This record gives sequence, structure tokens and C-alpha cells, in this order.
Amino acid sequence: MDESNRIIVAGGGPAGLITALALAQQDIPVLMLETQPIPVDHRRATTFHPPTLEYLRQLGAVDSVIENGRITPIWQFRDRKEGLVAEFDLAAIKDETDYPYRVQYEQMNLNKVLYRMLDDYDHVDIRFGHEVLSADQDADGAWVQVKTPDGEQTLSGLFVVGADGARSNVRRALGIGFEGFTYEEKIVQYGTHFDIGAALPDVSGVAYISDPDEWCVLLHLPEYWRISFSSRDGEDDETALRDDVAEARMAAFLGQSGATVALQRSIWRIHQRVADDFRKGRIALVGDAAHINSPMGGMGMNSGVHDAVNLAEKLGQIWRSEADDSILDRYSRQRRHVALEDVRQQTIRNTKFLNEKDPAARRASQDAMRAAAEDPEKRRAFLMGSSMLAGLRAANAME
Ligand SMILES: Cc1cc2nc3c(=O)[nH]c(=O)nc-3n(C[C@H](O)[C@H](O)[C@H](O)COP(=O)(O)OP(=O)(O)OC[C@H]3O[C@@H](n4cnc5c(N)ncnc54)[C@H](O)[C@@H]3O)c2cc1C
Repeated sequence: MDESNRIIVAGGGPAGLITALALAQQDIPVLMLETQPIPVDHRRATTFHPPTLEYLRQLGAVDSVIENGRITPIWQFRDRKEGLVAEFDLAAIKDETDYPYRVQYEQMNLNKVLYRMLDDYDHVDIRFGHEVLSADQDADGAWVQVKTPDGEQTLSGLFVVGADGARSNVRRALGIGFEGFTYEEKIVQYGTHFDIGAALPDVSGVAYISDPDEWCVLLHLPEYWRISFSSRDGEDDETALRDDVAEARMAAFLGQSGATVALQRSIWRIHQRVADDFRKGRIALVGDAAHINSPMGGMGMNSGVHDAVNLAEKLGQIWRSEADDSILDRYSRQRRHVALEDVRQQTIRNTKFLNEKDPAARRASQDAMRAAAEDPEKRRAFLMGSSMLAGLRAANAME
């Protein structure tokens, strides 16, 4: 592989893999460096929104998601004591997309599909067990300092893409700030094979359930249900993950015992942070390296995929000498705009819907959701926003 011509992608999560695939499909040589010795099975993202499915179709990667995922056109906001607050059916925007639904499919399964696809390209070199320590550049190229199983190495290319997740060493090396905040409460997640659909017959496959004391989110995945609760004051992580505690928590929520933990138990911190710039010279950031948000709304991985497609298209234009590298500033403007003005706003609103403790504010937030669901015009606008279609289209139109 010609080192002066290749693009280095640091990190093999969804954002790095999509960047690599979209570059490879333009015949651009790619060196991908992943710190883990093998692909990691994180049970994190599960929601795929319509524009992400459209991009995956463009890349030839959508079939497995649709065939093996759970198609979920209807989703809900609920109150833990009072039941349904608002229900949204994506069929209302079927004139806007070929995929008027969410698909519930685990990101680790998408990663596996993408790794297999990348294997077919001779001009893609994937190196596991390679931790990018830092990145730097000059006028002609960019390089990374890497810890490899054989010691430290410097690896060079034409551009570097930092797709190395929330703690990105690439972002740190560039000295780019990551402003925002971290929520006090954490998310406690359990997977269960218990038939929650039978226990709560009017619940849809995606439900955000507000409660001032313990909110929760239900997601129906192909193999199991995932229940996420807010953490409890004073309860340590080890206790929250114990079988008896998990089962009691699920029983209290379901109104019946019998739900046991299967496939998953984990605890996550929730952040809202956006990098001050998504680009510095020949080095750009995508995915969680550039922005992290509350998972309420299922937007982090989706927007990482959108970053990756946008950036790979622009890098392709530069690589073929169809544009100069100032278009990377446009990448940063477009994608930062989405992160700050769209994803951040929506995920803060959704999290507030769940955890608001003040009764008047809770009522106002629930009334706003009801109003959005009941009025056809408002419903359409709400669905265009929450499906990420409106934000993505507006950003792509930005100069
Ligand atoms: C509980 C939970 C639920 C979520 N649900 C959703 C959802 O439903 N929908 C959604 O869109 N988003 C969701 N998200 C967010 C989503 O998981 C992330 O946004 C997504 O994983 C980001 O992808 P990424 O490729 O940018 O980063 P990551 O998935 O973190 O991947 C980064 C990769 O880089 C590697 N790496 C790290 N450091 C280095 C280094 N120095 N050198 C080389 N490699 C490195 C890592 O090993 C990893 O493979 C959820 C998040 C959580 C926590």
C-alpha cells in the first residue's frame, strides 16, 4: 500500500468502519487501526433511524440490518404510573423515506457485517491490537504514533480520521476541546427473555417511560427485551447489577415476578459533549470522538454514521483532486451543526421528559408530547426531527 496516498482511520467502531468502507468503495487505500485485539461485542446502540438505513443501502450494508433486525414503526412516550402519553407511527412520513420505521439491531452485529465487507478490499489494511497514541501532520501528510504488539511505530498517510470513540486520543492530540456536561444519574441496563409484550400488552417495541423516581426505557430486540432504568441514589454499580436486585427492579416495574437477566447487564454514564472543531488540517473527527449525547432517542451511532458518509465523500473529492481541503471546514460546519442544534436539543428534551422531577414541568413536557402526537402537522414535524431526516437534510444543505 502506498503510504503517501492512504487514509488512516483510528478506531474500528461503527463510525470508523463506515468511513473505511465508504473510502474503500471509492478505491481509496485505507489503513484502519483498532486498539482491541479482536472486534468487541458492545451492547450499546440498537436503534437505526431511516436516513441511516438509506446510507447503509447506498453502501450495500442494509440487507442484514433489515433481515435480522426488528422493524419498529411505532414508538411511545409513557408515564410509569399513568401509561401512554403519546404514540408516534413513522408511517406518517412514508412519503419522505423508503424506510418509515426504526430498526432495532445491535451495533455489534453491524460491526461484524462491516468487518466482513472490508475484508473483500485488497486496498484496506486492518490492524487489530494497534492503539493510536497521538496524531500529527505537516503540509503534505499526517501520521499517527501507534502502540503495536511489536512496539511503538509511526504510521503515515495523506489524512487521518479520528474514529477512536469518546476518549479519542486523536482529539486530545489536536488539542480540541470537548465541552458539555455529564448527567448525575447513570443508566442501568438489563436484558431479559421475559415476554414483556405479554405482560404490558399496549407497550410498543420502543417506549420511553418517565418517572420522577425511576424512569425506564424498553427496547424490543430480535432476541430479547432490553430494560434500562435510571440509577438509584446511593446504590453502587456492583449492587445494581446483582441478579436479585435486577429481578426485583424488573418485578416492581412489570407488576409481576419472573423476569431474569439474560444476555446483558451493564451500567453507562450519560454525557452531552461536542468537540470545538471536527477538523484540524489533515485530521478530522467522526462519531463519538466528535460528539457524545444521551442515548434517549437513539442518535449517537446514527449521527456517527452520517458523519462518516459525509467525511468520506469529501475526502474522496480531495483525493481525486476535485476539491481542495477547505471542504473539510464544510464537513465540520455541517456535522457540528447537527450535533449542537439537532441531536443535542432532541436528546436533552427526551432525557428531561424521562427524569423531570418538578410536577408542573413534567406535566408541561407530557402535554407537549401529546400535542405533537395529536396534531397532524406537528406530528409530521416531530417525526421528521426524531427520525433525524430533517436535521440531516438541513445540515447537508449548509455551505
Ligand atoms: C447504553 C447506550 C445505548 C446506546 N444506544 C444507541 C442507539 O440506540 N442508537 C444510536 O445511534 N446510538 C446509541 N448509543 C451511542 C452509540 O453506542 C455510540 O454513539 C457509537 O458506539 C459511536 O460509534 P463510534 O464508532 O464513534 O465509537 P465506538 O463505538 O466507541 O468505537 C470506537 C472504536 O475505537 C477503538 N479505539 C478507542 N481508542 C482507540 C485508540 N486510541 N486507537 C485505536 N482504536 C481505538 C475502540 O476499541 C472502538 O472499537 C448508545 C450508547 C450507549 C452507551
